[in-house]
Amino acid sequence: MAVEANSCVVVGAGISGLLAAHELQNSGWRVTVLDKGRGVGGRMATRRAGGGTFDHGAQFFTVRGERFEKLVEEWMETGAVREWTRGFASPDGEQSEDGHPRYRGASGMTSIPKHLARDLDVHTSERAVEVNLRAGGWEVTCESGRTASGAALLLTAPVPQSLTLAESGGFALTEEIRTQLEGISYDPCVAVMALLDGLAAVPEPGGMQIRGEPLDWISDNQIKGISEAPGITIHAGPKWSREHYEDPDTSLASTLLSFAEEQLGGLGARVLETSVACWRYSWVTDSHPEPCLVANEHPPLLFAGDAFGPGKVEGAALSGLAAADRLLGRDG
Ligand SMILES: Cc1cc2nc3c(=O)[nH]c(=O)nc-3n(C[C@H](O)[C@H](O)[C@H](O)COP(=O)(O)OP(=O)(O)OC[C@H]3O[C@@H](n4cnc5c(N)ncnc54)[C@H](O)[C@@H]3O)c2cc1C
Repeated sequence: MAVEANSCVVVGAGISGLLAAHELQNSGWRVTVLDKGRGVGGRMATRRAGGGTFDHGAQFFTVRGERFEKLVEEWMETGAVREWTRGFASPDGEQSEDGHPRYRGASGMTSIPKHLARDLDVHTSERAVEVNLRAGGWEVTCESGRTASGAALLLTAPVPQSLTLAESGGFALTEEIRTQLEGISYDPCVAVMALLDGLAAVPEPGGMQIRGEPLDWISDNQIKGISEAPGITIHAGPKWSREHYEDPDTSLASTLLSFAEEQLGGLGARVLETSVACWRYSWVTDSHPEPCLVANEHPPLLFAGDAFGPGKVEGAALSGLAAADRLLGRDG
């Protein structure tokens, strides 16, 4: 039996996959979204621990273009998004405002993907492990044994993961497409979350942009407005993260906390509990110039995500929309 026309399997429930799914569903397509995570959002990630709420992936986002601006306005109206600040503290603790709004999810960065996933057919804790051409379309098999089929397939995981998945069954990419995808790379990022027994010494507005080594960023999730309990998120710089990626969590937590203490001139409170998240793919270092990549025309196979176009949250969102535009035959 031929696969249903106007149907798509989307692998990845990050901002890119969810926006693509939304756009396709709004145009009458049947869309199945699969994600290996326990929740949606991918790198827009919020974790709860011991009464604290921590954003441990993306910390905020900016808006540069009109298409994304419209979406953010809608999200503000529904209450999924709030403006956080117009500038962060510099490494010496001074707040520098440049007039550009920085946005956050209302209850943490996952508020946005959760809002987008509400009306979609999203299956979490489903790791896609094999892709095959079947009945004129695509069949995706998950580790659990679940299968999902569609006339089109959209892969939005970080590209090295999507690349492995695309060629996991009987399908082979052309040499040219594989070379383009293999040229994409990312930096890793080690993140430490620490629940504190009092207000941390992070200056207003609760985010310090260091952009260096060994530290890239420190934020106070309470001042940010997403956590009842005091708690900080620390991101290591890309070089330090690469060198220490395999270190045990206890060592990553204690070392990054001591760096943060040094940076802030003391934490200001006692550490009650820590947890660690290691992102193998955090920021894109070598991107693809196009907003998405059509890797096969019939049946359609597309790659999207923050590696395509300008990157970050806005780039990922626009990439998902561009992939949907291609499938819908729109110019975008
Ligand atoms: C530590 C860190 C800090 C950041 N800070 C910022 C910031 O402040 N501002 C900003 O704009 N951006 C920031 N970013 C980048 C931003 O988070 C990303 O650009 C954006 O969220 C990427 O969205 P995406 O949909 O392309 O990918 P993702 O969010 O990575 O979504 C891909 C999804 O695919 C899923 N997946 C992968 N493999 C499989 C599989 N085999 N089967 C099923 N599902 C699979 C994953 O679970 C994931 O949910 C940061 C990222 C990190 C990690």
